[in-house]
Amino acid sequence: MSSHPHDCELTPTYDRDALGRGIVHFGMGNFHRAHQAMYIDRLARAGRADGWGIVGVGTMEHDRKMRDVLRAQDGMYTLVLKYPTGEWEPQVIGSVRDMLYAPEEADAVLDVLTAPSTRIVTLTVTEGGYPIDDEDGHFLADDPGVLADAADPEHPRTVFGFLVEALRRRRERGIAPFTVLSCDNLPGNGRIARRSVLGQARLCDAEFAEWIEVEVAFPNCMVDRITPVTTDEDRRDIEEKFGISDGWPVCAEPFEQWVIEDKFPAGRPPLEEAGAHMVDDVVPYELMKLRLLNAAHQSLAHWGRLLGVTYAHDAATDPDIAALTRAYLAEARPSLRPVPGIDLDDYVDTLFERFANASIADTLARLAQDASDRMPKFVLGTVRDNLVAGRSITLGAAMCAAWAQGVRGTAEDGSEIVQDDALAEDLVAAAREPDRAEAARRFLSLTRVFGELGTDERFVAAFTRVWRDLETRGVRDVMRGLR
Ligand code: NAD
Repeated sequence: MSSHPHDCELTPTYDRDALGRGIVHFGMGNFHRAHQAMYIDRLARAGRADGWGIVGVGTMEHDRKMRDVLRAQDGMYTLVLKYPTGEWEPQVIGSVRDMLYAPEEADAVLDVLTAPSTRIVTLTVTEGGYPIDDEDGHFLADDPGVLADAADPEHPRTVFGFLVEALRRRRERGIAPFTVLSCDNLPGNGRIARRSVLGQARLCDAEFAEWIEVEVAFPNCMVDRITPVTTDEDRRDIEEKFGISDGWPVCAEPFEQWVIEDKFPAGRPPLEEAGAHMVDDVVPYELMKLRLLNAAHQSLAHWGRLLGVTYAHDAATDPDIAALTRAYLAEARPSLRPVPGIDLDDYVDTLFERFANASIADTLARLAQDASDRMPKFVLGTVRDNLVAGRSITLGAAMCAAWAQGVRGTAEDGSEIVQDDALAEDLVAAAREPDRAEAARRFLSLTRVFGELGTDERFVAAFTRVWRDLETRGVRDVMRGLR
């Protein structure tokens, strides 16, 4: 007989009522449930989360199902950590007190957002949830959701419409504003959340927007924990292994990291007691993650796909791919700022342990998705900094050549390399140009990707050399020659 998360051996025994409602979270997806909600649950187990219970909010159609599942389970759900050894560790998270589905419960959303007890609003609404232009960072005032909320601000539908209306009501009632903490995987996520709230507010009332500018805090933070989509197989396995019948469990890797700018004028839970790092400046940690973890993912993806590898764990344990990726990280490291409290050798070793976790089953195709957007963010900034400082750029340029070779569409074993990229058409047209020199010129002149790097002599020469080699020599031979 299986039992439910709210009624099983693992159901939390702490006083959930004492948690109250101190945090409202928009975007009750898998990541929040494996990360931020887990930190609050950990504090609750130590008796240190009173007043910091979470109310989730969903604004999208598919959030209705999450609301229904969580309500039926009294807000509780199973988090399973999957270890590289194959061991699974289940726990039931009790920090989420309720979830509201905004299209049906807008008044309740505004009520909880205006309650004096709500002191933090957290967000994981994906990159697309922010009405901000990806390329130049300007506020998208003509976005349909933005326009609808500007036309009828008292009946908001978007995340930022709700935040602005709630802040307006709090100000009117003399209630101090909440702090807005974006936990999305975006560099400068606090700055982006701030720009989104201010942009929306300015459309209603410029003076009110100025008040927000002065009164509301938007700390930046860096988050990390690989959390894949829950599969039906996960649901079945969790029921079989642990006897828990959960409508929407979440699985994740054991690793977790949360580095938060300590700027919470309205107060905050003692997150440092749950393992978060509270810091003055998140930027060095962000750079570390982007230029090491995310860049290593690109290296595994582009070299791995050329060799016909499917999974990240197979790429990370392939001696040639692992050695070249480690060598790339050594090239990238001088471009980082000092990262207080982190030993970068340990960080890199841990990355490879995480990547090697076969239970996570991350695919290289997923990692290579939208490489035209990811390579500039994760790799090309490092190349630029290294060029300016006169350091080596060989392995950064080589990774670009491996990517370009993959864009040609065929792995060394003859299998197809599929392109899932917003710029796929332009990339493919350039990379498949029959004449290599012309192909290199066209590929590197995609200025949305390479900017001025496409005409930098050192970069162009390093890229072209490796790309030519990939045409005439085996992939492994080229890789070994680069280390
Ligand atoms: P998910 O698909 O499980 O959940 C996404 C949530 O965002 C849903 O609640 C959805 O309704 C909401 N959302 C999407 N578009 C929105 C919009 N336009 N407006 C409002 N809400 C919107 O995904 P997830 O795994 O929870 O990831 C969410 C975000 O968390 C990622 O985009 C990333 O920024 C961050 N993150 C995820 C991971 C991970 O491994 N999954 C790791 C680090 C950071």
